Amino acid sequence: MRLTTRIKKSKSMIRLVRPTELTPSDLIYSIFVREDGRKFQIPSMKGENYLSLTDAPKLCKKAVDLGIPAVMIFGVLKKKDADGSIALRKNSFHTKIFRTLKKELGDDFVLISNVCLCDYTAEEFCVYSEKGKVLNEKTAEMLGKIAVVHADAGADVIAPAAMCDGQVKHIRSALDEAGFDDVSVMSYIKTDSCLFQPFFEAMTLSKSPRQGIDSSKFRTDIINQKMFMQKVDLDISEGADFIIVKPALTNLDLILRVKQAYPSTPLAAYQVSGEYAMIELLGRHAHVDKKILLMETLSSIKRAGADMILSYHAMEAARILKK
Ligand SMILES: [Zn+2]
Repeated sequence: MRLTTRIKKSKSMIRLVRPTELTPSDLIYSIFVREDGRKFQIPSMKGENYLSLTDAPKLCKKAVDLGIPAVMIFGVLKKKDADGSIALRKNSFHTKIFRTLKKELGDDFVLISNVCLCDYTAEEFCVYSEKGKVLNEKTAEMLGKIAVVHADAGADVIAPAAMCDGQVKHIRSALDEAGFDDVSVMSYIKTDSCLFQPFFEAMTLSKSPRQGIDSSKFRTDIINQKMFMQKVDLDISEGADFIIVKPALTNLDLILRVKQAYPSTPLAAYQVSGEYAMIELLGRHAHVDKKILLMETLSSIKRAGADMILSYHAMEAARILKK
């Protein structure tokens, strides 16, 4: 008799037959480090806190102890400037973060730098523009310069977030020319989504929601898988070492599609701020066990084909997996 339940006879049997396993080494923790040193709960992402430069290494050490191999770093500046040139200062806040983490955690903990103009420009736009027209070359060149500053300070991976065309090519050649040919490029490919909003609110210095030319112009149409793959093709042809699909839960099919098209390219998926908030809210206000929901979502992302997952819940997930 054919019984599909035989291979579910015990927990060990279930583990034995799994083609895919989620482990802490699949996880990348994302942190927000504030230049003003203030530590408090992020209003748009309840449960997640801003860190000071002093606390960041302590938390990263905990991540290492849990088996998490990498961290994605978002620096929240005290002040931004008109053209974002603040990013190129040798002693900028971002360089301090990388130097501190490298010194405290050593070479074996992977530091990923999120690189985008909105982190530095007063307008908080992801690209340069003139009369409503995006200046691709100028933006990509600047992103290349920022990447070199971050690599020089200790970043192992550059993750360009602006999604402007040509950014991967410019960053790759800027890194190579500066002697950082061992620094990887991890390229975000994002679909249009309201799930980024809690993150924007966490990063902005302005009281009102960010407007203007942000990365929405470059994100791909949510229902158009071909547009998404075109972007993946371009970034891989320009030298991306990793691809990040973002958000994760609304793009499980795209994760699978990228995995099938580029099986040898390391593939990450980003469980973004809105996904974080959904899990937290359901855990608090619905009759849902947050831990189970978290593991269910991460497992589905892994099953879809992601080799690694960026998550604000990475520490919590790693703790659950360790048990
Ligand atoms: Zn941006």
